[in-house]
Amino acid sequence: MKRLIRGGWVLNGELQTANCELESSPDSHAKLRKSDILIEDEHIIRIGSCGDTAADCIMDASGLLIAPGLIDMHVHLREPGREDKETVQSGTYAAAQGGFTTVACMPNTQPTVDSPEALEYILNQAEKYGSARVCPIASITCGLQGNQATDWNALLDAGACGFSDDGRTVMNAEIMRRLLLLSADRGFPVISHCEDPHLAGHGVMNAGKTAEKLGLPGIPNLAEDTIVERDIALAEDTGGHIHIAHVSTRVAVRHVRQAKQRGVHVTAEATPHHFTLTDTAILEHGANAKMNPPLRSQQDVDAVIEGLVDGTIDVIATDHAPHAAFEKAQGMLKAPFGIIGLETCVPLVISKLVQPGYLSLEKVISMLTVQPASILGLEAGQLAPGAVADITLIDLERQEFVDPTRFMSKSRNTPFAGWELQGWPVMTIRRGEVVARR
Ligand SMILES: [Zn+2]
Ligand SMILES: [Zn+2]
Repeated sequence: MKRLIRGGWVLNGELQTANCELESSPDSHAKLRKSDILIEDEHIIRIGSCGDTAADCIMDASGLLIAPGLIDMHVHLREPGREDKETVQSGTYAAAQGGFTTVACMPNTQPTVDSPEALEYILNQAEKYGSARVCPIASITCGLQGNQATDWNALLDAGACGFSDDGRTVMNAEIMRRLLLLSADRGFPVISHCEDPHLAGHGVMNAGKTAEKLGLPGIPNLAEDTIVERDIALAEDTGGHIHIAHVSTRVAVRHVRQAKQRGVHVTAEATPHHFTLTDTAILEHGANAKMNPPLRSQQDVDAVIEGLVDGTIDVIATDHAPHAAFEKAQGMLKAPFGIIGLETCVPLVISKLVQPGYLSLEKVISMLTVQPASILGLEAGQLAPGAVADITLIDLERQEFVDPTRFMSKSRNTPFAGWELQGWPVMTIRRGEVVARR
């Protein structure tokens, strides 16, 4: 089966292998070149002008960006245990609808992904029902309890692409030190949810003026800053790879920047909500703007954007965290932390980072493809002859209002409903097959 994607725009960086002269884009997107892509079965076989090449199926991509299939390295699929909120099937379909062909899922399911059997269950579900590739992240400690290490080597052998107790910080620094030593040896990321639970206390949102106004307990920046600093010190000592999840504070950004300058193996991610919203969003959206780490101040948002611009932050990831409507309806004090993000990520990135001129299209696409691929050690994220045909077509001009009733996720907890955004994924191709279209 041959498929031809005809006449779309590809980024310059994707063209090292193209062997023909290509037309440049006329105006705003100077780094784009017009190109066709020929797919045979599951693989890309040619990038560049394909002329009158015969194909079983021809897709017109004129005016669209042809990007490598996007990768979200931080999602919660909720299976097993809370299939009412999301499943591997619904979560990967939401991912495909949002332009993602690969997701890495966090282990805080019920039961926890802390054994090879639990990990294999996820991989099997993904093989049977997945619209996207699923890379499971295994837990650092049994049951996320923070005191007993899981069998890291067995989990790596079973296919874990990294470790995290996401949702919690492993406060036992010796366990983290030993895992980072293994990371230096076997090469995988240790993904840290940085928050000292004693400093965070019973906080439900950012500590600051809005929390005071609402009379709600706050989570200080310090809860994140201190653990980021600790984990960087552990990575520096061991030579292991620490990946800081969802950076939200200005001091955390500074710690990562300085550590990178010293040559520490540290990488970091930021979520769309942390570069688009401040804690004042709680006033309008209540628990649909409650997440962990919380939305912070404008100064912190500015620092996160600065971190994305100067390369301190390597990756954009959604921290897609589905919750049932009845749970979010319990109010700020009782509602669980987290918002969904897979289906709003691309238009938020285009509208809030590319359009205002903070980052080039090339840069943000790399933060959603090659950068997470390199952190997770995946062969993915690039358009190249011979590569698996994971491809996302994005209409950079398309404007649409965010309409949660159209989401493929089982959950609706988002503060972005009604936002008018530009730049939407319109077709997602996984292993040469169309898995979603808008
Ligand atoms: Zn987290
Ligand atoms: Zn998370």
